[in-house]
Amino acid sequence: MSLTISGIGISRGIAIGRVYRLETGIVEVYEVAIPRAQLEDEVARFRRAIRTARQQLKAIRNAIPESTPADITEFIDTHLLMLEDSMLTVAPVELIRQNLCNAEWALKMQRDALARVFDEMDDPYLRTRMDDVDHVVARIQRILIGGSSHASGQSDEQLRDAIVVAHDLTPAETALLHHQGIAGFVTESGGPLSHTAILARSLGMPAIVGTHITSHQIRDGDTVILDAGRGVLLAEIAESTLKSYRRKQREQQKRLSELDRLKSAPAVTGDGLGIRLLANVELEEDVRAARRAGADGIGLYRTEFLFMNRSDVPDEEEQLAQYLAVVRGLRGLPITIRTMDLGADKGYAADAGSERLATNPALSLRAIRLCLKNTELFRPQLRAILRASAEGPVRLMIPMLSSAGELNEALELIEDIRRELAREGLAFDPDMPIGGMIEVPAAALSATLFARKLDFLSIGTNDLIQYTLAIDRVDDSVTYLYDPLHPAVLRLINMVIEAGQRYQVPVSMCGEMAGDPRYTRLLLGMGLSEFSVPPTALLEVKDVIQRSHISRLTPVVKDMLASDDPAEIGALLGALNAM
Ligand code: PEP
Ligand code: MG
Repeated sequence: MSLTISGIGISRGIAIGRVYRLETGIVEVYEVAIPRAQLEDEVARFRRAIRTARQQLKAIRNAIPESTPADITEFIDTHLLMLEDSMLTVAPVELIRQNLCNAEWALKMQRDALARVFDEMDDPYLRTRMDDVDHVVARIQRILIGGSSHASGQSDEQLRDAIVVAHDLTPAETALLHHQGIAGFVTESGGPLSHTAILARSLGMPAIVGTHITSHQIRDGDTVILDAGRGVLLAEIAESTLKSYRRKQREQQKRLSELDRLKSAPAVTGDGLGIRLLANVELEEDVRAARRAGADGIGLYRTEFLFMNRSDVPDEEEQLAQYLAVVRGLRGLPITIRTMDLGADKGYAADAGSERLATNPALSLRAIRLCLKNTELFRPQLRAILRASAEGPVRLMIPMLSSAGELNEALELIEDIRRELAREGLAFDPDMPIGGMIEVPAAALSATLFARKLDFLSIGTNDLIQYTLAIDRVDDSVTYLYDPLHPAVLRLINMVIEAGQRYQVPVSMCGEMAGDPRYTRLLLGMGLSEFSVPPTALLEVKDVIQRSHISRLTPVVKDMLASDDPAEIGALLGALNAM
């Protein structure tokens, strides 16, 4: 029986190798009183540690090949700059002298003081930079206590093809480990949005974070399988499992290198139909991944992430700065900014103290419903999106529309904001397209109503499937019922595409179904010509598009839509994908 340890897969791919445990992360330090006569020795010890930390980071910087993307080396440069800053070089020295304490304790006091300052910052980006401070402080502490920071050097030999298991890894450590040839890594802490996670994704390194491994579960030298796509680490593996994973790994690697050549190729079907292939993004950083994968633009920017994990609400200026950063990062490529889809599983600060507890949060005040009830929250966002449209091709998209009344109210509000901005002399694009997400069955069934009044539609299959099949998408116990091929789902999707064709309104799909290559031909056969997918799925979908002939797909898809037999639908999908 193999041992399975689960975590959050932050990239894709399979790695097989020996475990290499690294001592990283939080360093425990204690206060020690220093006699006045030895204070200057203690200060000198601290300054030596800072110098050593700088040397280590410079060594990492030099060890990274020239060809490494700038966003990777920037992480290390940020840490080097911090080691020049008086907040870490001068303030602890003063604390040693004032408190007659050891360097480790003085550094800890300074770190805690900085954490309080960062906590009060309005800018969410700056707040997250406390992680960088912690990484730099931990490096100095490890030098002070005489522990080995791996940057001082395990041999490349020990690390080559190893799967590194650590409490946490800094971006700098991750970059170096990559250079030293590790196969992948697993950390106990960390989330999918940390810089280390972003780095692992952009380096294409299989990795899992947020596992809660204990040392007796995994030992140095054990052979393990890291399946990042599934977010699992397998230990104590049988020979047959190892063999089958080695085969899977070879297939994946071959496939990825073949796909790379598609980055700059157009998304055109075998019979000449051009498809718009856009990317879904949550964070400003994801825009780089989208551009690198050759996306034609952004088809879904989920702005609610700006509102989450914080105790306040971002104001118009903060939102504008964020949207402009994304628009500028795209250098002229189009972007679809979705207004906040808060509520249900996506909690936010302003609602935290609310007395009301919905019985069915997914059916309650969510997305556009919440925004129309709370225009103080909504207006600054609409103003910020409109203002951002002055600087690039921006489209605005409204989530979870379900009725004409709601749509009209939203459109009137947008019109009101346009007048307001014009009165104030603030620039915006008067022709900024406005679209809506079709993710409620009622909206799909009356898609013509939305097609008549909007500039574009986008099908959100994650919610459309949830609401059509009455399965809570965050409830594990009903996941087995999630079925994009259910006849009801297929027919609703088809109705939306037909409504768009009838009113000549572009229809896109931005739910996960669009990024699953098993469904690409089915969607092409229904007439979908715009896909918005996670950046990591883009090339696989493009590959299927290039190998498809719409004229051959259409008759099979017609049969699929006419069938209400799941087995027949499954068999027809198999036939489509085998063409
Ligand atoms: C969807 O519902 O398909 C969608 C894209 O929106 P989200 O996943 O953010 O609800
Ligand atoms: Mg949705």
